[in-house]
Formats: sequence, structure tokens, C-alpha cells
Amino acid sequence: MPCRLLEACKKNRASLPTILLKCYNVTMLLLPDYRVRQRDYLLEISRALTSQLNIDEVLRLILEAAVAMLAGSVGLIALQEDDHTFRARATIGVEPERIALFKPLLEGITDDAEEGFNIAELDRKMRLVARKLDIRLRQVVALPMVMRGEVVGVIFIFRAYSGQSTTNDRIVLQSFADQAAIAVHNARMYQRVMQEQQRLMAILDHSADGVMILDASRRILHFNKALGRMCGWQPKDAIGHNHDEIITWEHVDQGKPLGEAMSNGWPHERLPDATPDVLYVEGDLRRPDGSRISLGITYAPLIDPDGDLRNIIVNVRDITHFRQSEEMKSTFVSIISHELKTPVALIKGYAGTLRREDAEWDRDTIQNGLAVIEEEADRLNELIENLLAASKLQADGMRLTNVGDVNLRTVAARSVERFQTQSAIHTLVLDFPDPFPTIQGDEARLRQVIDNLVSNAIKYSPKGGEVRISGTYDDQSVTVAVKDEGVGLPQDEQERIFERFYRVDDALSRKTQGTGLGLYLARAVVEAHGGHISVESQPGKGSTFRFTLPRD
Ligand code: ADP
Repeated sequence: MPCRLLEACKKNRASLPTILLKCYNVTMLLLPDYRVRQRDYLLEISRALTSQLNIDEVLRLILEAAVAMLAGSVGLIALQEDDHTFRARATIGVEPERIALFKPLLEGITDDAEEGFNIAELDRKMRLVARKLDIRLRQVVALPMVMRGEVVGVIFIFRAYSGQSTTNDRIVLQSFADQAAIAVHNARMYQRVMQEQQRLMAILDHSADGVMILDASRRILHFNKALGRMCGWQPKDAIGHNHDEIITWEHVDQGKPLGEAMSNGWPHERLPDATPDVLYVEGDLRRPDGSRISLGITYAPLIDPDGDLRNIIVNVRDITHFRQSEEMKSTFVSIISHELKTPVALIKGYAGTLRREDAEWDRDTIQNGLAVIEEEADRLNELIENLLAASKLQADGMRLTNVGDVNLRTVAARSVERFQTQSAIHTLVLDFPDPFPTIQGDEARLRQVIDNLVSNAIKYSPKGGEVRISGTYDDQSVTVAVKDEGVGLPQDEQERIFERFYRVDDALSRKTQGTGLGLYLARAVVEAHGGHISVESQPGKGSTFRFTLPRD
């Protein structure tokens, strides 16, 4: 290692005569002790340099060795940058903040090794720099580090006195410079590769998709943050684990799990349902906390030139929303067809019966039949209006068209009147202070909200009971609450019932007509008025739906 070299150097520096050496026309000086043991030194230096890949460390070693060999007092290494200029990268014997003073020396260095240096010019610049640095320098040794004909950098050693060189000295210094050039080149290549790798890893880490990289035995080498969020694993905990420990499918809907596919020969043998290289698996994953997530995972193999599997690049997508919208589409189709079928069947049935030519219908029967037809036509109309409102709401948000004075007590009273006639087993109670403050709003829309809450209170309390519609107010807002004694709602359904097409999947909902749009639209109307709607409920103990609107 160069420490021995440095020690020898320090010991010899004061007492030994010096020798000048010319390198690219610049006179240089080598301590005689090195000539004796030069091969050993060179070997040691090159070993030390080539085993080091940290560029700063390489430059420090080169500079220490060069300063020691040449008995210099100040040393500097300038490296060629991407823009072909030379920039000081390491110094010895001068404080870092004074490095800028070397700038004139670095200007005009050519990167063509054949051109060499202009001694007179270099000498002039050296004196200039020495003056600025306020040090007594008599000689500068410029040692170009050349690699494949290109100057990788230059080592400058400043000396306080001059000397003569021999041919052998020149050879020794030139070999040293060659070794240094190789070491610098390697360290810089390594640094670039590392930077590139870090850049790639940063890109992977910031990707919104989950990404992991596996080795051929499915061990996780890289695991990004997005994937961590999806799978419920910290990247640092997942790295090193086998893929199959992290990707724990609850069920697979498409493709084969990676382990199974690999034991069937993937990626070397094409699977019947896979494109040549890529394996796609879709399904539900079980997270460590027991929750589930729907994922679509693409596995792309990286094959080396010998045809062996090297890595597997894994791309993971959260397809929960996609699945939900697919589910919603099919729910939509089934709800709509069911909801359309019932009134259409009733209308057709009654119309057909009343039209029978072989029967004479009395007036009451005709009236009853026509009433059912009218009611069912109204229901169809309401359904169509709700669908249109929901699709409009999705496209442009809720628009309030007719805003004016609204008294919610009056609106609620009309609703009670209308619904009371429809059910014999429910008692509708209006509980509003009189007078009740008027607010600014769209009366038709607010009537829809109250009607929907009252209609639901009746629908979802099949055993009857009281439905209380109450109003309260304070300085800022008015609140309307619709309380029933019906089936109630479990906690985990209470937020979801406001979603589009969402219906609680239970026996009662299945036999009760509905589209899952009423509360979705009610929330949109309330929020468009600057208010909010909520539910308080317990299964079997009834529900209270409450909405609050600002008074101004
Ligand atoms: P629907 O047309 O199905 O009634 P809504 O959007 O009005 O649609 O209601 C969504 C779901 O919320 C209903 O399917 C029902 O399961 C539940 N729900 C609404 N109101 C009540 C209530 N008062 N009591 C119990 N469950 C209710």
C-alpha cells in the first residue's frame, strides 16, 4: 500500500538530492530512493489504486503518491469533465476554499494527449497561481493521465525548488501516470454506473405502479414504495424474502401464480395461456393485516446471453377500482333490468286484462287497474329521472337550477301527507317547530331528498312502526332528521350506502325495489347546497338519516 511509500518519502525528503524529469516538456523531479525501489512502489501504487473504486479515495491516493515521489509541497489533480473542461477535484497542501485560485492553470488544457503542454505558458500561470496562493514555488510538474489517447486528467505537483531528471525517472513517472489514469477511469466508470443505478432505482421507487426485481430463484432484490403500500409490506422488510412469501394470493382469476408457472417451465417454455415471455396474473391478494386487494401482476423475464434466467421484473397494478367499476356495471345492468321489468310487467298485465274483449269490468276494477298502471308508469318515470340525474351528476356535478326561498317544514309536511296514505302499518310524525326558518335552495331537489328518506324509512321497516320527520335549527343551519324503527344498518355499510348503485346485500333489500341511487343523489343535492348528510344506525334498532343545510 502507498503508506509505506509515503513514509519512505517523508523520511527521505529533506536529505536526498533531486532529479529533474521532463514529462510533456515539463521538467520534473524524482527522489532517488524511488529509483532504487521503483518497481515495488509502482506495483504497490497500482495495487492500491486498482482495488479502490471510490473516485475521491483514488484521487487522494494518486496525489499522496505523486507528492511523495516528487517531494512536492502542493499537489492538485484536475479531471476532465463531460463538457471537456478541466476541473480541480483533489488537492494537497492547500485549503479547499483556495482551489479556485488554480483556475488559470486549468484553462486551456487540451484533452489531446499528443499536443502536450506549452511550458512557457504553464510556467507563467504557475507563477501567477503561486503569487495568489502566497507560496514560494519554483517548479510545477504536470503529469497528464492518459487513457486511450485522451487526457483523463492532469496531476500538478508544485515544488519549492527545481531539479534534473533522467530517462528512467521519466519512464517511472509515466508508468505511474498510466496506472493512475486507469484507476481514475475505472473509478469514474464505476461512479457513473452507480449513479445510473441510483437514478434507475429512484425512478422505480417513485413509480406509481408497484415494481419489484427478483433473482432467478424468486428472491426479492428490489421492492418499491408503491408496492409496499399495495401489499402492506415495508420495502426494507420485503427485500431478501422469497416472492411467494409476499405475493400470497387469496384467489387467482387469471393466469398462474409465478411459482406454479415456473415449475411448469416458464419462462423457457411457453405456457398455453401466456404470451411468449410475459406472465400475467390477476386476482385478490391477502395482506399481512388480513385485508384484501385486487392486483394485476406482470412478470417479465430477463434472460442472459447463455439463455439462463437472470432476473424477473415484476410490475404490479392495483385493479381494485377497475374491478369495482366492472362490478358496478354488472350491478347496474341487473338492477335496471329488475327495476324496469317489474313495472313493465304490471302495466302490461293490467292493460292486457282491462282490454280483454270476453270480459265485462265494473267501474271499480277498471279504476283500480288504471291506478296501478299510473303508479307503475310514475315509478318508471322516477327511475328514468334518477338515472338521468345520476349520469348528469357524474358528468358535470350537481347543478341547482331554481334557487329560491324554501321552507323545509312545508316540504316535509307534504311528504308526510303523501306517504301516510301509502302505508297502513307506519305512523308518520311531523315534528318541526313552527315557524321554521326559510333557507335558500332548490325546492324540487330538496323535496326529492326528503321523499327519498321517508320512502326508505318505510321500505326498510317492513314491520311498520313510527317514522318521525323532525326539524331543528340554530343561527347557522337547519337540520332535518328522518328516524325509523326498521332493520337498521351495520357500521361498515353506513358510508357505502351513499355510493352510486350501492345496496346492502341482504334478504330485505333483495325483495325490496330500489336502485341504490336514492342516497347517492340525496348526498349530491345536500352537498350542492353546502350541507352534509349522515346516518346513525344499529342493526335491528332502526336508523336516523340527518341532513344539515346552511341558513344563508
Ligand atoms: P334503494 O333504491 O336501494 O333504496 P338508496 O340509495 O335509497 O337505494 O339506499 C341504499 C341502500 O341503503 C338501500 O338499498 C338499503 O340497503 C340501505 N338503506 C337506505 N335507507 C335505509 C333505512 N332507512 N334503513 C335501513 N337501510 C336503509
